[in-house]
Amino acid sequence: MTILTESQTVLVERARLFAHEQLLPFESKITKFATLTDDDAKRLTQKGIEAGFFATNIATGLGGRGLSLFENVLVQEQLGVTKDILVRRATGNVYDCLTLASACQREQYLQPSVAGKRWAALAVSEPDAGSDVAAMKTQAVRTDSGWLLKGSKLYISDADYADYFIVAAKTAPERGVKGISLFLVDKQAAGFSLGQRFNMIGFDGTSHRELIFDQIELANDALLGEENQGFQLLCSTLGKARLAKVAARGLGKCVRLLHEMTEHAKQRQQFGQSLSMFGTVQSKLADGATGIRLSRALLWETAKRMDAGEACREEISMLKVYVSELLGRLADDAVQLFGASGCHDGGTIESFYRDARLFRIIDGTSEIHRNIISGSLLKNGVLPLCDV
Ligand SMILES: Cc1cc2nc3c(=O)[nH]c(=O)nc-3n(C[C@H](O)[C@H](O)[C@H](O)COP(=O)(O)OP(=O)(O)OC[C@H]3O[C@@H](n4cnc5c(N)ncnc54)[C@H](O)[C@@H]3O)c2cc1C
Repeated sequence: MTILTESQTVLVERARLFAHEQLLPFESKITKFATLTDDDAKRLTQKGIEAGFFATNIATGLGGRGLSLFENVLVQEQLGVTKDILVRRATGNVYDCLTLASACQREQYLQPSVAGKRWAALAVSEPDAGSDVAAMKTQAVRTDSGWLLKGSKLYISDADYADYFIVAAKTAPERGVKGISLFLVDKQAAGFSLGQRFNMIGFDGTSHRELIFDQIELANDALLGEENQGFQLLCSTLGKARLAKVAARGLGKCVRLLHEMTEHAKQRQQFGQSLSMFGTVQSKLADGATGIRLSRALLWETAKRMDAGEACREEISMLKVYVSELLGRLADDAVQLFGASGCHDGGTIESFYRDARLFRIIDGTSEIHRNIISGSLLKNGVLPLCDV
């Protein structure tokens, strides 16, 4: 029995087929060479657009595919079975906060982004402001003609490929997170430069760069959304991204790893029998399958509740923690099960193992998300979060 509607089942099947036929053929290039050529990137974007998987989170009236968050989660899980850069190029980096764009910003940023012609990167982290977003020093000061932006950002994903940046900056420094605004900053802007490059342990093919804003003059219309509402915008944009791009994609990776482990356990012979005959191996497979099913249940419930208008802040944090840690355990178990063949470069297990480690840090660390869950419990008691 499936609890999906007929059209949702079709959507899942289409996404599964797309991942296997269009994304997976590129995977070995990424695991071996750690880069995606511009030609391959463009081909993937074109395929994503043709298949209807590009900018699925953006309303049709704004040029996107207008899927609900629940449908997005279904799609992202299926696509998440492979390397992140492939999914990124095939589905786009069109952040939800861009839907607040003014008419002029729509033309300049949103429309080309949903068409796969311009790419955004989200820039929040700084040398002294990681988990503690309020500590950011990048500042935008009002001028007669608009804003003057000064500061820097660190570890910004996809900075090389991006054409423009959604930059969080203080506009009322004395107000902490309530004094942060978002700005749209072109890569070509005078005073902008890319700084240090960071080769992360995983996410091969995605660049991570320092961004430097040296007194950039921005027009009034560079402000995205309302002044000093940036943190709220980030929270709602990142909440949905955490569900679709972190939890659902991470779950896809769990399914892929469990598949690889199950096949290897059946095929690999030692001591005259397959590894699958050993109880310790069976336990790992059973625990992996159980974790996946339990995670998916909360993921689907949360996405549906968010589609109905609930904030689900704590549930998003639960999923971010649980799925990223499940992925970490499964990747570790997979390396153990594959032995030396899971330890060397150029292989699926080794590259997924490196990617998995990053899931506990990106988009809020496990500790910060546990703080959100426990903070809610301590403030509101156990009932709102854990009762039916
Ligand atoms: C691969 C990758 C891609 C990234 N992409 C982007 C991007 O595109 N845009 C962007 O803006 N940023 C990006 N980041 C940065 C990312 O958001 C930060 O790494 C993350 O927010 C954590 O900040 P930090 O690394 O400075 O760690 P810190 O905040 O210095 O934390 C260090 C450790 O202390 C713990 N800690 C901190 N505060 C508390 C607390 N209150 N309670 C308990 N423990 C605490 C943390 O959990 C962590 O274990 C990326 C990072 C990585 C690794």
